[in-house]
Amino acid sequence: MKNNQMYLTNNHFETPKSLELNVFDHQLFRKNAEIVISKLEKYLADSSIRGLALTNPHVLLQAAKDLMTEEHEGIASLDEEKLEAIIDLYIKTGIQVYSPGYMGRQFSGVIPLAGVIDLISSIVNQPSSFYEAGQLPNVVEHIMSNEFNRFIGWERERFAMVTTSGGSLATLTALLAARNDKFPRIWSEGISALERQSRPAIAVGDAHYSVCRAAGILGIGEDQIVRLPLNREKQICIQKVRATLEAAEERGLKVFCLVGSAGTTSVGAFDPIDELAVIAEEKNIWLHIDGAHGASLLVSDKLRHKLKGIEKADSFCWDAHKMMFVPAMCTLLFYKNKEKSYGAFRQEASYVFEKKPNIYTEFDSAEKNFECTKRPLIMNLWVLWALYGKAVFATKIEYLCQLTEHAYQILKDEPDFETLHQPEANIFCFRYLPSNLCERKFPHFQVEIRNRIREGGKFFISKVDIDGVEALRVVFMNHQIETEHFRMLLLEIRKIGQELLNESNKTQVYGFFTKITTEP
Ligand SMILES: *Cc1c(COP(=O)(O)O)cnc(C)c1O
Repeated sequence: MKNNQMYLTNNHFETPKSLELNVFDHQLFRKNAEIVISKLEKYLADSSIRGLALTNPHVLLQAAKDLMTEEHEGIASLDEEKLEAIIDLYIKTGIQVYSPGYMGRQFSGVIPLAGVIDLISSIVNQPSSFYEAGQLPNVVEHIMSNEFNRFIGWERERFAMVTTSGGSLATLTALLAARNDKFPRIWSEGISALERQSRPAIAVGDAHYSVCRAAGILGIGEDQIVRLPLNREKQICIQKVRATLEAAEERGLKVFCLVGSAGTTSVGAFDPIDELAVIAEEKNIWLHIDGAHGASLLVSDKLRHKLKGIEKADSFCWDAHKMMFVPAMCTLLFYKNKEKSYGAFRQEASYVFEKKPNIYTEFDSAEKNFECTKRPLIMNLWVLWALYGKAVFATKIEYLCQLTEHAYQILKDEPDFETLHQPEANIFCFRYLPSNLCERKFPHFQVEIRNRIREGGKFFISKVDIDGVEALRVVFMNHQIETEHFRMLLLEIRKIGQELLNESNKTQVYGFFTKITTEP
């Protein structure tokens, strides 16, 4: 109220004087962008081996506060030095995803052009759920769905693809479509519609935690998650699926959806989609494949066979912000049957949804999407695909998978390391087990190594718990990594591991002993 009155003179609005110092100015934009771009160019040129410089959050909090203007009344004039300091701080405190030392997570360095296109999306600011607000993105989604369908093989007009902000949201959306398909009354009546029916349940393998969250959100309940037994490769053990589903039925569960993975998060395992599809069809269960990590292998002629049977899945998701090297987020959610893609969000909102479709609204995606205002997620990916073609992705993915296989071959011959699986893609888990380690007395040895490595700031790797066994995990997302870097990592692991053992010998702070000290 008070503010409004400030600008009202004789009942006329006046532009506030302070806005004349124009923060929207195009030349100022250019100047700022040049600062950013030259910083990013240096950042991209740095090929040194480094991981993460983990800062004390309280120190960082203060550093960030110190960069804030003290001007509170008017609009402060731009302090370029502070802008530069903010960019430096942002870059410096991040995980160094372009460095060969980065082997830790599933997001990657991006093909820089994708980032530049992302800048356009940010400046032109066209939310893309409706054709009228995002014309090119909506047309491009259509093009890309057909491009990718070349690797799937569905009938052209029968399937659907939508983009979502992340794999977690894609899986939630697909499970919602599945739930509404099998229990059509829940959408309007809620879970009270279920009283006299048996309990809806979901069967999963080594599922990402987002699947269990989805079960919680959808009113299925985590207790209604049926765990399918896994084989040694951590794939769903196909021989045990029928019996497990039937046992669940006997307990009064109605399994309506089966979630398999194409590339599990923990070890990158691919479930046997083809065989799962046979069982799902036989039992009238929706088959969803979580391909957040591994669906990118579809673009490679050499690796596509890992997803054999994907055309039989009712739905699957694919994170392009993982192995397609575009900025987060960009997830593709596919449905075998276009009609079912409308089933996730059965809802009418007359102010946005047209009753009668026309040539424009046919390209809207809002009815199939949770998001209302949505980033034009597809643009970064499309531009790379349009200008470079598929080979840029296929080559890089094949390289990363070969590199991982090579790392496995190296470790197989190292007596002080244990491999936990033969990698199927670009994720590999192993343990450092030197002969002087007494595991019983140093139970968290692998985690300690991982944390020390992170503190060292040279390499960034992750840890994983496989059936209660803690292990080290590398994810090769970065084509700058060569076998040599993996060998250097091994040296680092040995060095740190031995340091840990020596320290525990000397100080016994942790109460750990090694065989050397316990054996005379
Ligand atoms: C990364 C990942 C997810 C989560 O995807 P977001 O895009 O991070 O939401 C789900 N499933 C698997 C297998 C993943 O690897």
